[in-house]
Amino acid sequence: SKTDETVEARINRLCATVPDYPKPGITFRDLTPVFADGATLRAVVDALIEPFEGQFDAVAGVEARGFLLAAAAAYASGTGVITVRKAGKLPRAVYTESYDLEYGKAALELHQDDIPAGCRVLILDDVLATGGTLAAASRLFARAEVNVAGYGVVLELGELHGRAALAGHRVRSLVRL
Ligand code: 5GP
Repeated sequence: SKTDETVEARINRLCATVPDYPKPGITFRDLTPVFADGATLRAVVDALIEPFEGQFDAVAGVEARGFLLAAAAAYASGTGVITVRKAGKLPRAVYTESYDLEYGKAALELHQDDIPAGCRVLILDDVLATGGTLAAASRLFARAEVNVAGYGVVLELGELHGRAALAGHRVRSLVRL
């Protein structure tokens, strides 16, 4: 039955592969069916936080798909959720960190007072590709003097070597493609 299916098997079964999205030559991995399946969502969130048990005081999600995981993980662990947002979305004083995209630049922001210095944060997102996004998130927390407990992603695109950009902290990925 599906009840004893591993979390990795569940993700592989439900993840949709979309050729040529968002542009020709890119293969997009769409995890919305993974989030939409109740037993899988629970198994994913439990598996992401399990190695970090007792090692974090808050869970950060990267806009937008990371928010889904971070809210569930924070609730499950009795901690708070911290939003790392695209530039221009947060209304009060922020830290800003830019990172390179294939073409051009993007920036992420964190409210300066959403998480106190000295806290330990677990940072979650749906997919790890080049690691540029999570590395920028990590720099935001460094500026806030917050310690990164580690990173958790549902899917890691291994060929892009994103782990190398995140050296120094544990990366938990549930499926590596
Ligand atoms: P990176 O910065 O590691 O190159 O890219 C990771 C970011 O881009 C994540 O925020 C992730 O949501 C998004 N991303 C990159 N490739 C994919 C993909 O194939 N599927 C999904 N769902 N997100 C992706």
